[in-house]
Amino acid sequence: MTSIKLPIAFQTQMKSLLGEVVYKEFEKGIESEPRTSIRLNPWKKSINLDDSVAIPWSENGYFLPQRPSFTLDPSFHAGTYYVQEASSLFIEHILKSQRVEKGIFLDLAAAPGGKSTLLSSYLGEDGFLVANEVIQARAQILRENCIKWGLGNILVSNNDPEHFEPLEGLFDLVLIDAPCSGEGMFRKDPQARTEWSPDHIQLCAARQKRILDRTGALVKAGGYLIYSTCTFNELENEEMIRFLTEEFAYEPVRIPLDPSWKIVESKVKTENGEFYGYRFFPHLVEGEGFFITVLKRPDDTHRLEPKKVKDFKHPFLKEIGSKEAEQLDSELNFPLTGAYYQLNESYFRIHQNWKNHVDKLSQHLSIKYFGVELGKKQGKEWIPSPAWALSILPKYKFETIQLTKDQALDFLRKSDIQCSDLPKGWILVCFQSLPLGWIKNLGNRINNYYPKEWRIRNL
Ligand code: SAM
Repeated sequence: MTSIKLPIAFQTQMKSLLGEVVYKEFEKGIESEPRTSIRLNPWKKSINLDDSVAIPWSENGYFLPQRPSFTLDPSFHAGTYYVQEASSLFIEHILKSQRVEKGIFLDLAAAPGGKSTLLSSYLGEDGFLVANEVIQARAQILRENCIKWGLGNILVSNNDPEHFEPLEGLFDLVLIDAPCSGEGMFRKDPQARTEWSPDHIQLCAARQKRILDRTGALVKAGGYLIYSTCTFNELENEEMIRFLTEEFAYEPVRIPLDPSWKIVESKVKTENGEFYGYRFFPHLVEGEGFFITVLKRPDDTHRLEPKKVKDFKHPFLKEIGSKEAEQLDSELNFPLTGAYYQLNESYFRIHQNWKNHVDKLSQHLSIKYFGVELGKKQGKEWIPSPAWALSILPKYKFETIQLTKDQALDFLRKSDIQCSDLPKGWILVCFQSLPLGWIKNLGNRINNYYPKEWRIRNL
């Protein structure tokens, strides 16, 4: 238990939200131990889940009996699961219960990528996600996590919300997991208690309004907007529902709940009728504090004419013609569904269904990554990218070896790995059949191609 006390003004705020009696329960909850949970990647081989307990509102989420060292688990680095607190996995239940159409989604405030990888799993081969993060360094972490997840259905961008304005009416779903005062993190991260103040709430609420003001019209007719925070106060939650529904045409969405989940529904009266929010309290739910609401754009929302894309104008992206794309797909044993681009000589592949979107997005956004980076081609030889290894695309052209756990950890530390009788050339290294990356056997030495910036340190 932490010695950092809950701020007095926060206690007063929560007492007025919950009442004195329930507040005592809430305080006990917030001072208890957080539970560790993970969400599996349904597109990669599963891991041993003995003694874990399923999270009831998520098909892929599990509570673990204790917190292991994830850094020392090679299957974590292979993108087989994401460490994520349980409340936010409710998004999976929202998507499935509403049967949200799998088209093009936007995760506007996406780093480090917990909710983006969840959306990517839901979309699978039938949809495409723009995962955006405004802070550059955080966009790098987002890129890394999306690459490791490996489904190839994500474009990572590094933009301010206002840069999306030309893309109004494009998205089937927009998720705004807003930067907030973080009251819901007071258990997991007691240090967050010291940064809290009523003034900070005001500041966060003003920022949230600015974000929503610029992004409320990005959803297409019939599409969904999901707004979430990891905070409890009404100013950053219910007030934002009022703001959104007064500024833009939205209908309420009520999510079916099982009473045993103990998620608290809040009814929000607005000028345009009653809307719904869902709160996760630490004395009721074994996840962290969370608030989420779902709004639907009416089917008759004025449809904006999509801006015509004339010539492809991105200064560095070179589009590969469809004939060459087909040749590449057959050479690499991929399904004949690829569209290809070259960026700094490296080849990138996406599903051809999303080509028009990538062409359009690349005219407006600062793209940090998209699809699967395959690597460079020198004559007939491929210099494969780490992203290809971690993707779910086939890698039939290459020899494969299985590493022991110690060898896998050496590989992930970017150290020399000791293996005998290896074939020459590029080799895909795997742990328990899960690809981790590439080595190249030159005969007299083995080069380790794990990215320097991803290597595990000091362990
Ligand atoms: N969705 C992420 C996940 O599940 O892993 C967590 C997102 S976190 C709650 C909010 C994000 O908003 C942060 O990554 C932060 O950098 C970003 N952010 C901060 N200021 C912002 C702004 N003015 N506009 C948009 N995003 C902002």
